[in-house]
Amino acid sequence: MIIVLRSDATEKQVKHIIDRVKKLGLKPMVSRGIERTIIGVIGEEDVLRVQPLEVFPGVDRVMPVLAPYKLVSREFKSEKTVVSVGGVKIGAKKVAVMAGPCSIESYDQLFKIAKAVKKAGASLLRGGAFKPRTSPYAFQGLGEEGLKYLHQAGKEVGMPVVTELMDTRDLGAVERYADMIQIGARNMQNFDLLKEVGLSKKPVLLKRGMMSTIKEWLMSAEYILANGNFNVVLCERGIRTFEDATRFTLDLSAVPMVKKLSHLPVIADPSHATGKWGLVGPMAKAAVACGSDGLIIEVHTNPEEAFSDGTQSLVPSRFGTMMKELKKVAKSVGRDI
Ligand code: PEP
Ligand code: MN
Repeated sequence: MIIVLRSDATEKQVKHIIDRVKKLGLKPMVSRGIERTIIGVIGEEDVLRVQPLEVFPGVDRVMPVLAPYKLVSREFKSEKTVVSVGGVKIGAKKVAVMAGPCSIESYDQLFKIAKAVKKAGASLLRGGAFKPRTSPYAFQGLGEEGLKYLHQAGKEVGMPVVTELMDTRDLGAVERYADMIQIGARNMQNFDLLKEVGLSKKPVLLKRGMMSTIKEWLMSAEYILANGNFNVVLCERGIRTFEDATRFTLDLSAVPMVKKLSHLPVIADPSHATGKWGLVGPMAKAAVACGSDGLIIEVHTNPEEAFSDGTQSLVPSRFGTMMKELKKVAKSVGRDI
């Protein structure tokens, strides 16, 4: 249920409605837009049948939200959300590019890549310290040591940093060292993890599960917002289809679709989607053309010896060329990069 307030509703009226909603055992979530304030009501909505909220001063109308995701929906908030990560805006005119290695391997490796991607125009540094690997025998990441390197490298080059969290027990460490928490495709429906990051003050990058529908993905985002964290950026990273020439199938129609359904920013990951460095540039261009608010790209100075995902990693010079080419695409759709 959504309570749309009149544009002239006073603070006193807003507070009165919030108090009533709470008394009914429901959870009010307030969204203050430029034009007007909206209150989303979460919980058993049946009680509202005996207590019609339309009669309260300041209320314009009360509408049911048909979508199962409420706070994430465009009905709840019609204006686009802009998420700020250490001062970098995601969802604004400038397409935000996150770049860096798949895994943090050493400080030296990370720092070299960080300098190169910053020079080429990236605005956030990515790097995994906790790696979700298919094989238990593969490199699992440097853990907290890696987080320290990431924090330090980001500080040295002047870029906020994003890294994946896989276990609620590591939330404190990730919050200490990173500016944005990534929830990976394999954990998109780890509901306990979603609830925990929902309680965090850090922005969250929520990747789409490789076998998840758009609705399931948005329901996962709803878990984070319902726990109070509205700073969520969605990331389309490819889904499993019958096609096996590429690692996954980058579902770019999800970008305009999600923008229609939700106010949250959406970015694309052509690295994990294609699994092939030669396809990263073309799909990055397509992603910007269809309205992605950002990109996340894997870059490595020596892909041959990368601890993970070398085949899809761009060397810095190719990343630089891609960034130049992306400028033209961004301009043609009214964006900057
Ligand atoms: C990653 O970004 O390194 C990663 C593991 O991505 P995904 O969760 O999309 O596979
Ligand atoms: Mn990777």
